[in-house]
Amino acid sequence: MDTRDTILPLPINAECLDCRYTLTGLPERTCPECGRAFDARNPSTYRLGARRSWRDWASPPTMSECGTLLVLTTLGLLQMSVPLWLSAVPGCCFYLLMAPVWLGLVVLTFVRAALCYLDRERAGRDAHARGRVGRWLVAPLCAAVMLTGITYPWPARLRFAMSRPAFERAAQEALQRGKLPGRWIGLYQVSHIVRRTYRDGRTHVLFVTGTSIGDPVGIEFDPSPRRLPGRSDEIQLAPGWYTYED
Ligand SMILES: [Zn+2]
Repeated sequence: MDTRDTILPLPINAECLDCRYTLTGLPERTCPECGRAFDARNPSTYRLGARRSWRDWASPPTMSECGTLLVLTTLGLLQMSVPLWLSAVPGCCFYLLMAPVWLGLVVLTFVRAALCYLDRERAGRDAHARGRVGRWLVAPLCAAVMLTGITYPWPARLRFAMSRPAFERAAQEALQRGKLPGRWIGLYQVSHIVRRTYRDGRTHVLFVTGTSIGDPVGIEFDPSPRRLPGRSDEIQLAPGWYTYED
């Protein structure tokens, strides 16, 4: 054993990377608790207790970071499936409260990746040896899925597609009876259903699912073969079916 190494002082709060055993003042160069090697000359091989170092972030995202990101992404997609999700009222909560957390976690993953690159020696062992490689994929995948949902209205169309048979039945019922009480239709809680006849004779059925700022929003059944130009943010959910805001 090279005795010069043992004389080299470790920081007073140096701990084992694996088991956090205090390493200061030891005669060996391996952790007596778990056997992990360390080198006083290389700060990548131990961690500093209590006092945080940027090196502590040079590791794959934690399970709780990945879990939070997956939950927030699911909630985000759920919100995107709501008619006029940008203005529908519960949606504002997602943007005000959860979106910054979501974005922060995505950015944190990329920061962690950059720090791993800077501290390759420690990160290389941590990232690969313990089978945590998959955690790196969570943030890029969540970001990609959210981006596709923002640029193409697939969450809204998917949710409607799963509910369409129930909507078709309710629309026929409303065309005959004029008005129906609120109920669950497919995957939507509909507060009320009304038949609306315009002066030119067109008859539509409106399914109110929520509100934007004061105005009802929902899904509109328009059986006419040629749709009159509607709102610019209107989405066609299926042939004859559109999002609407009063
Ligand atoms: Zn140890």
